[in-house]
Order: sequence, then structure tokens, then C-alpha cells
Amino acid sequence: MGGFQTVRGTRDLLAEDAERQRFIIDTARKTAELYGYEEVITPIVESYELLNAKSGEEIRQRLFIIEDNGPVGHRKIVLRPEFTASIARLATTTLRNNPKPWRIFSVGSVYRYDEPQRGRYREFWQSNFELMGSNKPEADAEIILLTNRLMRAVGLHKYEFKLGHVGILRAILSAEGIDEPTQNAILQRMEKKEYDAALELIQNCRCRQRFQELINLRMCDPFMADPSLSVERIKTIVRSYEKASRETQNLSEILNLVKQSGCRIKTVDPAFARGLEYYTGMIFEVYIPELDIALGGGGRYDRLIEAFGGEPTPATGVAHGLDRIVLAMQMQKATPTTAWRKRVAVVPVNDALKCEALKISQILREAGISAELEVMGRKMNKAMEDADRRKVNYAVIVGERELKQGAVVLRNLAKREQTTIEISKLAKTIIG
Ligand code: AMP
Repeated sequence: MGGFQTVRGTRDLLAEDAERQRFIIDTARKTAELYGYEEVITPIVESYELLNAKSGEEIRQRLFIIEDNGPVGHRKIVLRPEFTASIARLATTTLRNNPKPWRIFSVGSVYRYDEPQRGRYREFWQSNFELMGSNKPEADAEIILLTNRLMRAVGLHKYEFKLGHVGILRAILSAEGIDEPTQNAILQRMEKKEYDAALELIQNCRCRQRFQELINLRMCDPFMADPSLSVERIKTIVRSYEKASRETQNLSEILNLVKQSGCRIKTVDPAFARGLEYYTGMIFEVYIPELDIALGGGGRYDRLIEAFGGEPTPATGVAHGLDRIVLAMQMQKATPTTAWRKRVAVVPVNDALKCEALKISQILREAGISAELEVMGRKMNKAMEDADRRKVNYAVIVGERELKQGAVVLRNLAKREQTTIEISKLAKTIIG
């Protein structure tokens, strides 16, 4: 008989995957602590209007929309497709009067109606860092550096950063009087690497040639191999545009700060654009060579909080795709470095001793040892077979004769050895 399946694009994470996921969450949380980010927990559902307001077409088309049961007509609510909108909402309300900068960390599941494939799900997990209140390049550098720390700390040994700057592209387009919706359409094409389509939208514009040169640059080996060289070349290409030149200087400063801090940027791609429309400055993504989908990405978004009705507040941030980091860890054989947990099965030799077995389990747990009480009422040999199969380390056998001496039998299942040991010394012996 077939049972129910998970909903398309969603998965169950069983023990090993769940442990990997938990390890990444713990590492992200530790990273947040080390960099001074405070964790907030926001609802999984948000109002449709919030996401509709500023998310851009890419996200809007992929929203999971629910209608609630309100008595006066149904209201639309959405499953959050990302964290940034929720944190920007907080920035315009609760956080508003707090001193800046605001460093905020969140982790949890997000939902997008994507076409499922390897590394692309409809329910997936992100760890999210937002740094609000600073327009300085050191804030952008921090977001890249904490991503570098997370990648290293989960055990990935080879990963690459790609850096770009939508501020440069937008500055050129604005200088030519191209309105924001058209700018968004151009950047969307560029994100999909549909460069001809992007150029078509600026067919008759003076800046077409500049765009073509920036796009050509990404195909040009010597520049792509050396990020600093690439930035110098961008400076030359955009030199007749004042604001674009300043934005290029900003990119150059961020690149230097990151480099000086020991984090290598593999490429600076001048034609790089990201899906979300709210970016205004540097953008970046991190990859491993074995996978062509990004493990994380982010950038600067200086106008979002204002667009949500808050004070103008410059901001930068990143979201890491935990499901993809799990994939990357598997590919690079990085194992979670969680402390090795000793597992102990506690088995009474007969039914009358179950209360004693329960008490001994409690003593072990108080000492921080994971104790699994025999709850199936099985005979000793069956219980031992099962413990073996589940790779339990020790069995504590609770028998009448030993109990009279205040002792139990401790069996090391791997070594197939056993000794009688006083209950008061049991936990210490197991911990070793
Ligand atoms: P974004 O919120 O679009 O900036 O994405 C940040 C990160 O989330 C990406 O770099 C991916 O690692 C991850 N991500 C985005 N979409 C998906 C998806 N459909 N399934 C799994 N991970 C995703």
C-alpha cells in the first residue's frame, strides 16, 4: 500500500541529514555570536502586501499564497520567501528607535514556488544576516567575511566568491534617464545571462557600448582571473559616468578590505546581477567548484527600509542556503564535528526491574549520557541484537543479583566485554 508522500518540492530530513542541518545551524549561530549579531525569530507567514511591496517580480511570481479564514472576506497571507522583508519590517517598527548599527541574525525555513531539482526546493532553509545602518564598505566586507567564516567552519575546504556591483550598472542607466522598471528588466535579463536580451532593452541608448564592454569583460580571461585588474578595467570603462565611477571605487574598497582580511575573491564580474530587485550596491555569491548553484548570496540594499515606510537606512546582508551547504559538505566529505555522543541502552533482565532500570537511565542522563531505556519488553538477547544494530556503544544490564550489591553489568558492545560495576561509578566509567 502506498502511503502519503511529502508535498512536491519538500523533503523529510532523517537522522543523518537532520544532524548535518543542525550542525550548520549551530555553526551559523556561533558565527552570529562571534560577529555580534542578535538572533530574532519572526513568523513564517507575512502579509501579502509586505512581500508584494518591494520584492520584485522574481519573488512575487513564486510566492506561496494562503487565504485566511477572516470573517470579512479572505485576506491573503504568504509563506515567507526570504528573511530580508521580515527584518526590514522590524526595522520600520520595533527596531526603529534602537541605536544603529543593527546586526540581526535569523535562521529557518523559507518557501518559494521554484521548479524542484537538485539543490532547488520549494521549502528550504536559510541562515540570514542583516547589517543595517551603515553605508560603509567595511559593513559589506563584514558580510562577506562572516560568510567566509561559516563556509570554513562547516568544513568546506574549497569554495569561491564571486563579487559584483549593481550600483555601477544602475548608475549608468540612471544617468541615461532609464527608469527603474526598465532598469529592473535589464538586470533580470543579466541575472539570467541573457545578455543579448538585456542589450536589446538599451538598443538605442548611448550606454549600450559601455554595457557591451562590461559584458565582454566577463568573458576575458586575464581580467576574470585577477579581480583587482577587473576593477581597474571597469573604472576605465565607466570613467565618463561620475556616479558609476564612485560606485566602482566603492567596489574596489570592499575588495581590498576583504582581501586584506585574508579572504580570497575568485572573480569580480561586472555583468553580475542577482534575482532580488532591491539591491543597490555590491552583490556576491559563494560557490563550490563541484556545484554550479550558489551556496549563499547577498548584497547591499540601501532603499528597502525607506520603501517600507521607515527612515532612510542603508543596509547590507546575506542569506546562506543550508540545504545546499549540506550537499556541498557531502561532496567535499566534510563531516559535522559535533562531539561524539555515547549511546547507552539500559535493559532490565525482567519486568519486575523496570523501575530500577528507569532510575538508572535518569542517573545517566543527569550525567549528560544519552540513555535509551528498553521499552519493548524484549528478552535480553533480542534487546542486545537491537542495540548492536543501532550502533549503541554500551548496554547497562540491570539484574537482581548485582542490584543487591548496588551494581549493574556494563557491556561494551563493540569490544564484546562486560564487567560488574557500582552504580555510583557507572557514569564516570562510561564517560571515560
Ligand atoms: P536569495 O534569498 O535568493 O538571495 O538566496 C540565498 C541562497 O538561498 C542561495 O544562494 C541558495 O543557496 C539558497 N536558495 C535559494 N533558492 C533556493 C531553493 N529553491 N532551494 C534551495 N536553496 C535555495
